[in-house]
Amino acid sequence: MSISRRTVLAGAAAAAAAPALHISGAEAAAPMKGAQAPGFYRFKIGDFEITALNDGQVNREINATLFPNAPLDEVTRLMEAQFMPTKPAVSPFNTLIVNTGSKLVLIDSGFNNNGAPTTGLMAANMAAAGIQPTEIDTVLISHFHPDHINGLRSKEGNLVYPNAEIIVPTGDVAHYLDDARMAAAPEGARPAFMVARRVFGPNFKDIKQAEWGKEWANGITGIRSDGHTPGHTSFVVSSGTKTLLVVGDASNDPRIFARMPDWHLGFDLDRAQAVTTRKRLLDMAAADRMQTTFYHAAFPATGFIAKSGTGYEWTPVSFSSVI
Ligand SMILES: [Zn+2]
Repeated sequence: MSISRRTVLAGAAAAAAAPALHISGAEAAAPMKGAQAPGFYRFKIGDFEITALNDGQVNREINATLFPNAPLDEVTRLMEAQFMPTKPAVSPFNTLIVNTGSKLVLIDSGFNNNGAPTTGLMAANMAAAGIQPTEIDTVLISHFHPDHINGLRSKEGNLVYPNAEIIVPTGDVAHYLDDARMAAAPEGARPAFMVARRVFGPNFKDIKQAEWGKEWANGITGIRSDGHTPGHTSFVVSSGTKTLLVVGDASNDPRIFARMPDWHLGFDLDRAQAVTTRKRLLDMAAADRMQTTFYHAAFPATGFIAKSGTGYEWTPVSFSSVI
């Protein structure tokens, strides 16, 4: 007999009509937990052990400020086809820790306690993953937007990773720590300049700058990825024959911007360059079948990219209980 929706519903009705069983000790309604499980996920790239960490999320309105060149009804349709919330849209934040065997390397810092109440979950998620902030040896920064650097220093002004060497892209130092550029920036872009000064100002001489095409940490190369910001850097993490491409913000959520790589994101400073960079990185990921991560993908924000039509298809990793 095939099970139709009708027979399933008939079965449910019969079950509902049956007298309730009284099971001792389970009569009281269990309280709803109302909170998500810890947001950390582990995987390996060669001999390196990677821990993806979630730093929370914020809601965003779909409007022409966020999507300056895309028809907004098309944006909504693309998102609804993938069962993504649109009223409002949800934007997650995710960082990575790479354990190279000799060093613990954090890539981007999240917010700590400097962001919206739905952000700043990284500290709790790191603790749940069994990693202490004092153990971090190196922090690599992809770019100077607040969601990537604010967590280097708590709201109270303390360094959150006190033993870490902090390495940042030269191009973003030249842009965000330049007073003339801050004065020339539109009002809406000012906060990013202020955050860069708050975070880096007090100990700038201790901060190391790095260039594209160089190894920033053992097995982790910073690669050119400008457009989102002038110095935006993506990372190639290599161990043995395996590589991980850490895209950062060269593409925002791949469910939207991999599928439609020509769409502009309001936060991209040089939008034409951002499109060029995005396609170059996605082409590389697709051609080499590299595992890939995106800062603003849905947690654990890692998966694979394949070419599809005029864009790319994003396939998130499937949960594995074995790393
Ligand atoms: Zn970002």
